[in-house]
Amino acid sequence: MDCIFCKIVAGEIPAKKVGESAHAVAFPDINPVAPQHVLVIPKRHIASLNDVTDWSVMAHVYELAGKVARETGIDKTGWRAVINTGRDANQLVHHIHLHVVGGRQMEWPPG
Ligand code: 5GP
Ligand code: ZN
Repeated sequence: MDCIFCKIVAGEIPAKKVGESAHAVAFPDINPVAPQHVLVIPKRHIASLNDVTDWSVMAHVYELAGKVARETGIDKTGWRAVINTGRDANQLVHHIHLHVVGGRQMEWPPG
């Protein structure tokens, strides 16, 4: 399958892993939008939030996101966990990924 994030999981595309569990991997976003911007993905290919059937996978993703937040200190200052899904949300990579963003004051609503 031609999926860039599956290739990162397989080690075929380099990414500096900042966290890993049995079912999820965390690595910095290549184009960070904040001082801290990490992507947390399930090791198994799931295209989007619309395609999740086994929701326990998402528990592993959020568990690792929480660990990354604690390790980077953004749990103290505040952080955002975002999953873009589909066209209107500008989902560009079709392997589900949780953006962990922090380290600066953010706005709401998102653009
Ligand atoms: P989306 O818009 O699909 O929610 O976000 C995709 C994210 O993946 C973007 O923030 C983009 O910078 C990031 N990204 C795309 N390709 C790569 C890559 O090869 N390596 C890493 N580390 N991040 C990537
Ligand atoms: Zn994939």
